[in-house]
Amino acid sequence: MNGDSLALSGGTVYTLAGSPTEEPTADGIVFRDGRVADLAGGTAERTIDLEGRTVLPGFVDAHAHLPWVGIALHETDLSAADDREEALAALAENAADTAAGDWVLGFGYDESTWPAGQDDPLTRGELDGVSETHPIAAKRVDGHAVSLNATGLERVDLDGVDDDVRREGGEATGVVVEDAVIRVTEATYPDRGKARTVLEKGARRAAELGITTVYDMAGMATPNEPGDPFHAALFSAWREDALPVRVGYYVHIDRGDALADLEIASGFGDDRLSILGLKVFSDGSIGAQSAKLDGEFADDPGNDGQFVIDRDRLREAFAAAARANQSIATHAIGTEAIEVVLDAYEEVLPAYETDDPRLRIEHAELATDDQIERMAELDVIASMQPNFLQWSAPGGLYEARLGERWRRENNRLRRMHEAGVRLALGSDTMPFGPLYGIHHAVNAPHDAQRLSVGEALRAYTRGGAYAGFADERGSLEPGKLADAVVLDRDPFEHPEEIDEIEVVATVVGGEIVYEAPDPGLETTG
Ligand SMILES: [Zn+2]
Repeated sequence: MNGDSLALSGGTVYTLAGSPTEEPTADGIVFRDGRVADLAGGTAERTIDLEGRTVLPGFVDAHAHLPWVGIALHETDLSAADDREEALAALAENAADTAAGDWVLGFGYDESTWPAGQDDPLTRGELDGVSETHPIAAKRVDGHAVSLNATGLERVDLDGVDDDVRREGGEATGVVVEDAVIRVTEATYPDRGKARTVLEKGARRAAELGITTVYDMAGMATPNEPGDPFHAALFSAWREDALPVRVGYYVHIDRGDALADLEIASGFGDDRLSILGLKVFSDGSIGAQSAKLDGEFADDPGNDGQFVIDRDRLREAFAAAARANQSIATHAIGTEAIEVVLDAYEEVLPAYETDDPRLRIEHAELATDDQIERMAELDVIASMQPNFLQWSAPGGLYEARLGERWRRENNRLRRMHEAGVRLALGSDTMPFGPLYGIHHAVNAPHDAQRLSVGEALRAYTRGGAYAGFADERGSLEPGKLADAVVLDRDPFEHPEEIDEIEVVATVVGGEIVYEAPDPGLETTG
């Protein structure tokens, strides 16, 4: 018995036990041996004076992509470049730090914001000037075009996608679009070493944001080689105890057969890494005009979006998951897609041995009243991203894409909650960060979208814990895992500025895994 203990005292601890109408609080909390030992008092080896700060259960991001977070941190962010010289200089800096022959990647350049006369995409010639020994790929902000240098063009298999390779006078300009972009994504898929590096960077970022559990939704393109470097990285990081936060993992449907063959039931693993089930896509997105609607896009008449999987494949995958008692997380944004997924869930539910397989719909942005009722009846979890409400304001992207009605009726968190649908909130890493999402849930433009602070916090902690079979997480009650976040301000007292609240410290299993450098924590005794 090592008796490891930590006390936080002199602040406000919201346990998030019980219901928001009671909102139980304490002045302090003691963690011992990785669990909550006591509320309000008790001695510990280390005592931290909260100086009036706020403690909450650690956030559970129920839908994220750690590799994307890590890659954005690891590679070059071009979104802030004010002109092409700045973008090229940033790539040159990356190249100086990268072994010859390895990819140099940049993300998010937007030439439309560059000075007039300079507002063309980056060219092969310019990127050759950065390096000829590294392959270079710089992706545009919309993700639909990539600029490559000559070495990069040689490294990507562009067979059969010639139409998407831009040319001038027969010569490739370096710019490729659409299907050729997918080839670039495949060619630049990280190897095991880089996958491990970006995974750890993503997990450290999670800790900085107050996240103590994150579910990774396996959203990257399928790698070219056998195996998946991210699977290898997850398991090697787990073996070496290198992940500062707890991770749950949903396996992509392309690998679902392997998961089903092994009969790995949801929740397999330990409290640091667990396999949670199957990830399936059913449609596209609102931004890309590919969500499967029951009408047409307001700004693209005749287009009602698309299914990305056929019904037989969906049923077959669900049946295999049910045989092995695996949860399923299906991406469904448009009304038509949600309908098809609910039908298939209803059909497969009796095949589960367990009576709570915790089936989820990811996003469920355009669910109708009837569909919300059905989700409640079938006990299907709504895994939603309140940060998407950033596009729901009058005159915003959703109004442009969907028109007036759906501007009001997308992402109806309150409607879901009142109908009795379990909510598990997450970020989908757009951007990563629970406080930003909670801010949007609490300050959403329409009543049917808006949650109270207590409801939003529960959905971003307990809701996610439930979805991931992690019943020992999500609230600060004696015996539960010692996962908590210390905030510089109380979100209940500052509901209009939750997005400005800073994370002061993050505790996982009773250990401080992140501490803000300034003003930092005062240890006493
Ligand atoms: Zn996602």
